[in-house]
Amino acid sequence: MSFVIRLKWFFKWRWSRYAVAIALMACVSLLTTIPPKMIGNTIDLIRKGGLTSSGLSQTVILLVCLSLLIYVMVYIWITTLFGNSALIEKLLRGRLLAHLTRMTPAFFQRNSTGQLMALATNDILAIGQTAGYGVMTLVNTLVGASIVIITMISFISFKLMLAALIPLPFLAIAISSLGKKVRTRFLAAQASFGKMNDHALESISGIRVIRSYVQENHDLSAFDKVTSDVMIKNKRVSILNALFQPVISLIVGLSYTIGIGYGSYLVFDDQITLGQLISFNIYLGMLIWPMISFGEFINVLQRGSASADRLEESFTQKPDMTDTDAPVAIKVPTSIEMKKLTFTYPTSSHPSLVNIFFRLERGQTLGIVGRTGSGKSTLLKQLLRQYPVDPEMLFVAGVPIEQIAMDQMKSWVAYVPQEHLLLSKSIRDNIALGKPNASADEIARVIEMASFTQDISQMPEGLSTIVGENGVMLSGGQKQRLAIARAMLIDSEILLLDDALSAVDARTESRILHNIRVERAGKTTLITTHRLSAVSHANWILVLDDGRIIEEGTHDELMLFGGWYKQQWDRQQMEASLEE
Ligand code: ATP
Ligand code: MG
Repeated sequence: MSFVIRLKWFFKWRWSRYAVAIALMACVSLLTTIPPKMIGNTIDLIRKGGLTSSGLSQTVILLVCLSLLIYVMVYIWITTLFGNSALIEKLLRGRLLAHLTRMTPAFFQRNSTGQLMALATNDILAIGQTAGYGVMTLVNTLVGASIVIITMISFISFKLMLAALIPLPFLAIAISSLGKKVRTRFLAAQASFGKMNDHALESISGIRVIRSYVQENHDLSAFDKVTSDVMIKNKRVSILNALFQPVISLIVGLSYTIGIGYGSYLVFDDQITLGQLISFNIYLGMLIWPMISFGEFINVLQRGSASADRLEESFTQKPDMTDTDAPVAIKVPTSIEMKKLTFTYPTSSHPSLVNIFFRLERGQTLGIVGRTGSGKSTLLKQLLRQYPVDPEMLFVAGVPIEQIAMDQMKSWVAYVPQEHLLLSKSIRDNIALGKPNASADEIARVIEMASFTQDISQMPEGLSTIVGENGVMLSGGQKQRLAIARAMLIDSEILLLDDALSAVDARTESRILHNIRVERAGKTTLITTHRLSAVSHANWILVLDDGRIIEEGTHDELMLFGGWYKQQWDRQQMEASLEE
């Protein structure tokens, strides 16, 4: 039942298609009861010696016409019904992706990629099957069986029908007890399939690391375990599926035995004719499919509703961040300010930022430095609103960030993350990600700004070169410069550079930073880095350690202060001069 409730919207919307398909299926069931009747009648005519050649040819022509009519009707209902099932798969996949794009990082920490892929593939497929094949089997059972039974009663014998169908209740019992088991086993199989997806994804994306540590065999044997588990779980499902068939054969066999045994007695007793007995046995044969259908229906329904539940479980997970009901409208982010900002990741017990204070006016640059793991990236991410923050700690243009519409905030921020994210598209498409209709000139300009022009001219197809999955074709420094060009293209109010130039040499870095400074005059930039020369020009520099500010000031002030910053600066200068 839960399946119908979950997909009520779809059935409501497509009810007319379903109605057509079901009506046609009913017509087909009705029409298929005619030939057995005609065969029975003909046999009775033969026995009585009343069969004429014109009568026989009439019967044959009628039978042929009937088959043609049935053919057309079956064609129409199959395409209508299975069209619905393809449609629902398409719609659900679209919804799932839309849902995923609204989710924040915490959701993806809870739900692994493999499980989400299992939802998008197997689960949605199971739902589609239920909405198509499932409906077909149900209608076959209900409509098909009742029409055959009614025909048996009205044209042949109620007593005989009753006797022949005595074994049926056992079928119902067997099916309902097996059905529940199918559901639990199917859920287990799907979960295991998700785990296998995860493993395959990790193996493929990490193949280079795995190879360099000569762990192929180890990884293969681990994968073998996972696939064995999937196989075992799927086998357990198919064992139940297989159990249906013998149960059905047994019951059908019993029905036939009763039908022929008791039917012959009725013929001898002159209660029915021989022709009727033959028609009856053909009808009994026609009941087999509805019975099998019923088993299939329970099976498909259990799988479909298990999958619908899994999907629903994902849909009901709300993003951790929701917009405020009454957002405050701001035209431009004239300042960014943190007041006593403390932040702990939802999955962590230790705060990653403690008591952060700073104020940045529009047009200024903030440098954030500190040891690895000190909280630099975490600080930048506060402006992306990926995680819930306590109120009244982070202000943009004097308004607490939680009172600003998220889309508004996102439209101001361009972010170059520390771990680059490239799509397996062309370089042009990767750069134009935030502004798909950018002109060739605009793109050329940002490429120049990111010092990326020369690299592109050496690529086989220039801007149209496909970068491969997550940019495997590019070097670390090329990926970083591509990411910078992408961020520069949208010319945002606020630019977040998270260690965005760590993989380029110092000279290229200073050229790019110079370009950024000139280009972004009047706009706000936040830079985290390990190479202090990248922030020496900043208006204000924060030095973090274990999530706290341990030093702050301009470059000159920090040099005078003589703490971590100065030590680090001197060391890096010395290293640079040694290199030269
Ligand atoms: P690096 O210089 O290596 O980039 P960082 O200064 O950017 O380091 P952060 O990435 O901000 O450091 O991490 C600060 C702390 O927060 C670390 O202790 C890290 O383990 C923790 N942390 C980072 N991301 C998460 C997360 N998604 N969930 C839980 N803890 C996290
Ligand atoms: Mg970082």
